[in-house]
Amino acid sequence: MEENKFLVLAQNRQFLPFFAEEEKEWQEPFVFIQAADTQFGMQEKYIEKKENYGWQQEIRWSRQMVEDVNTMFPRPKFLVVCGDLLDAWPHTEEEIRRQQEIDFKEVFAGLKVPLVCVCGNHDVGNTPTPATVNRYTSSFGDDYFSFWCGGVFFIVLNTQFYEDASQCPQLAEEQEAWLEEQLEVVKREKPQHAVVFQHIPLFLHHPDEDKEYFNMDLGLRQAMLDKFYDAGVRSIFCGHYHRNAGGFYKDLEVVVTSAVGAQLGESQQGYRVVKVQQDRLVHQYYPLGSAPTRIHFPNTKRALPVPSATPAWSSTTAFLATARKGALAL
Ligand SMILES: [Zn+2]
Repeated sequence: MEENKFLVLAQNRQFLPFFAEEEKEWQEPFVFIQAADTQFGMQEKYIEKKENYGWQQEIRWSRQMVEDVNTMFPRPKFLVVCGDLLDAWPHTEEEIRRQQEIDFKEVFAGLKVPLVCVCGNHDVGNTPTPATVNRYTSSFGDDYFSFWCGGVFFIVLNTQFYEDASQCPQLAEEQEAWLEEQLEVVKREKPQHAVVFQHIPLFLHHPDEDKEYFNMDLGLRQAMLDKFYDAGVRSIFCGHYHRNAGGFYKDLEVVVTSAVGAQLGESQQGYRVVKVQQDRLVHQYYPLGSAPTRIHFPNTKRALPVPSATPAWSSTTAFLATARKGALAL
């Protein structure tokens, strides 16, 4: 039996499983899974206040999500974790983070769809530096990138550059210049949908709410909302809040998804099933173990694809060779 390996899939600002030119074209409705804050270690350290804390609970929760996703039909195109993959800080808890990373990779190596990693404040530090960003990218791949999947354009951002770029101004500038180019792509190519994944929400409920720990500064928020809106982005998926929330700016939806890990509100550990339909995205949050295994698309007369023996995404050996070369041996 082939050993499962964790693959680092985001490289050169691209996402390896989806690089084919055909991905630019809309074909049929599909599903992806959006999760956030697997955050190995937070439950015992922050919630239970244990001194010698572990992360067995997070391992169990993440494993349950992997099992859920692996049994879904039709198979989701990918699973995205919108930041705070691990809890331990990269600059002050290096050894603990190293151990959490080994366990995270072991759990997610069992996932049968591609994993899209988004970096959160715990992954690069509240004040990121070139060293902490580098540590993240060498473990999980690029901290920002974009990809086409089934006619939809996805943009993945490192929101920590917006929170505090004092120790890495150049990296923040590079992301901003890159983002401008991506928004030009949206304007020019007019994808079926343009979707952003990020850790920190622009807002939690209303676009004009006050700044607090879990959202973004008002001025920056307004500028980003306008920029995204004008380009044609209509969905932004986030995490960080450890509760479900969200709202609208015009018809642009900000979706805030609770954690796979520790909860700060009334939600249960879970993730969101997102149905990408031709005219809109429909999403619903499910506690772990409760999502349907068979996903139905309303308003679709087309027959569902027949399950195939070949993996849905590792289409070429060239791709696998590239991906494996980039995988970190841990
Ligand atoms: Zn966070």
